[in-house]
Amino acid sequence: METKRQVYLDYAATTPVKKEVLDAMLPYFSENFGNPSSLYTVGQDAKNAIAVARDQVAALIGALPQEIFFTGSGTEADNWAMIGGALWRQDKGRHIIASAIEHHALLHSGEYLEKQGFDVTWLPVTAEGLVEVETLKAAIREDTILISVMMANNEIGTIQPIAEIAALAKERGILMHTDAVQALGNIEVDAHALGVDLLSVSAHKIYGPKGVGALYIRKGVRLPAYMHGGAQEANRRAGTENLPGIVGFGKAAELAKAGLAEHAARLLELRDYFLERVVAEIPDIRINGSLEHRLPGNVNITFKYIEGEAILLLLDMAGIEVSTGSACSSASLSPSHVLEAIGVPVEEIHGSIRFTFGDFTTKEDLDYTIDELKKTAAKLRAISSVSKDSGF
Ligand code: PLP
Repeated sequence: METKRQVYLDYAATTPVKKEVLDAMLPYFSENFGNPSSLYTVGQDAKNAIAVARDQVAALIGALPQEIFFTGSGTEADNWAMIGGALWRQDKGRHIIASAIEHHALLHSGEYLEKQGFDVTWLPVTAEGLVEVETLKAAIREDTILISVMMANNEIGTIQPIAEIAALAKERGILMHTDAVQALGNIEVDAHALGVDLLSVSAHKIYGPKGVGALYIRKGVRLPAYMHGGAQEANRRAGTENLPGIVGFGKAAELAKAGLAEHAARLLELRDYFLERVVAEIPDIRINGSLEHRLPGNVNITFKYIEGEAILLLLDMAGIEVSTGSACSSASLSPSHVLEAIGVPVEEIHGSIRFTFGDFTTKEDLDYTIDELKKTAAKLRAISSVSKDSGF
């Protein structure tokens, strides 16, 4: 019997844990199980393992080890930066600026702050999905205390001019945060060169485990604790550390740093090959987001006159795993706020699919996907009531 082919093209949702990462983690579940706060040997071994991981994550993002604070996820790091940052600075003002295409971790944190009486300007982006520095400059007020703009978008992969925005924020004395969860491991992320105050990352997007992230807090920025309890993470993030998770994050960061250039070049080649074939072979599509300022492994396509959910289900039957918009919202039918922000009409948003490539993606996988896509699009368009071929 022929085994069903599996083609995973959703690396922006999550990545598989690399073997070397898993091997590094395993001893920390039951052999080296100590609590890093304990003073005896097994505890100190655990503490040392966390110190090594902190060095590895710091090296990947161009930071000092003491600027890395481990958290329970990228979401927690974003909440800490946004809500923690706003509460900390509220005596100076209650105005925040964030891009309209932030991940839900920031979008919903901002909405929470709005309910608490803060004023959030959701900065529009261009049709290409880019934040314009001039637009941001015009949005700054006397009472602006925090700016949060993501480094790379999770749906359309667009990369924002973070260094320029951070320079502007610094000039005006405004706290600057960037969500670098999608950028990490795909493009260079150098916190010091970017000049940001706060930067969020997550392990499971770089072939590390789920449930562990970190917030970079620039030396000298005295952002208070957001989780209260024990003295972990230099009194800044309470809670017994996710020891195996942190060790895995460290190993994944070390591997990501060593392979970054090669990884990015390979993904770019795959993306260009995929795009070239899709554009040439499938009619009535549009590519969403700038191709110039974009993560190497991201393609987001609208297939006109069809439902993305239907494409997703038919591709899944052929063993191909993709997503409609962001993974977090794929269970809901509300249109993607990112595609909305770049001006994609609502009916076309529903026909949009995100393909993201990674370590195990091959050219053969992409050939198979394109062949299935062609069949799927033709089949669905033939039965669609909104197809231009259907006469409606
Ligand atoms: N920020 C961005 C841009 C993301 O893509 C994600 C995950 O999808 C997150 C934050 C949340 O990270 P985590 O899954 O670790 O909570």
